[in-house]
Amino acid sequence: MKLILLGAPGAGKGTVAKLLTQIDGSVQISTGDILRGAVAAGTELGKKAEAAMKAGDLVSDDLIMGIMEERLKEDDCKAGYLLDGFPRTIPQAEALKELLEKMGEKLDCAVEIDVPREVILDRLTTRRTCTECGEIYNVKSNPPKEEGKCDKCGGPVVQRDDETEEAISNRLNVYNEQTAPLVDFYRNEGLLLSVKATSSEAVIDAIKEKLGIN
Ligand code: ADP
Ligand code: ZN
Repeated sequence: MKLILLGAPGAGKGTVAKLLTQIDGSVQISTGDILRGAVAAGTELGKKAEAAMKAGDLVSDDLIMGIMEERLKEDDCKAGYLLDGFPRTIPQAEALKELLEKMGEKLDCAVEIDVPREVILDRLTTRRTCTECGEIYNVKSNPPKEEGKCDKCGGPVVQRDDETEEAISNRLNVYNEQTAPLVDFYRNEGLLLSVKATSSEAVIDAIKEKLGIN
C-alpha cells in the first residue's frame, strides 16, 4: 500500500505505520527518523536540520524534498510505503504529487488521524524514544522493562530535545498552521480518509476497510 499518514505530533502516526508494515511489507518512511539519524551522525544534512528541529520548527521544504526524492526511488519502496511525517506543508504536498506523477505512481489514500488535543499533550509529555532504534515508549502506559533502556536494542531511552513543554507547544502551533491545511488538500484530491480514534488498532481497522484488506 502507498499511504500518507497525517496527524498532529503524538497522534500515533509512527505506531500506526509500524503496524501497517506487518500487513504487506510496505516500508515506513519517517522524515523525523531520517533527520534525527542525520543529526546523531553529524552529517551535513544533520547540521542543517538541527536548530529547526530542536525548536520544533520545520526544516526547509527543499531539504525535505531532496531527501524524499532519493528515498522514494530506493528498491524497498516497490513493496509500498507509509509516509510518516511527510508531507508537512502545501509546497511539499504539491512537490510530492508532481514527483509521483513523474514516477508513474498513485497513492491509495492520505489518512488523517484525528486525536483530541488533551490526549496529544498528555502523550507527548510522557513519550520517551530510543536514540538508537527509534522505538517509542511511554512512561505511564508503556515503559521499557528496565528504566531508560530499550527493550529491543538496549539503547538509551530518553525524552527528545523537542519534547520540552515549549517545543511541544510550538510543534502543535506549527502543525495547525502549516500541516493541517493538507487535510483539505487531500480531500480535494479525493484521497482523504479521516479517522477519529485514540487507539492505533481502530485506525488500522479503518484503513483496512477503506482498502478492502481483511
Ligand atoms: P512529530 O512527533 O512531531 O510528528 P517527527 O519525528 O515527524 O515529529 O519530526 C520531528 C521534527 O523533524 C519536526 O519537528 C521538524 O523539525 C522535522 N521534520 C520532520 N519531517 C519534516 C517535514 N516533512 N518537513 C519539515 N520538517 C520536518
Ligand atoms: Zn532501541
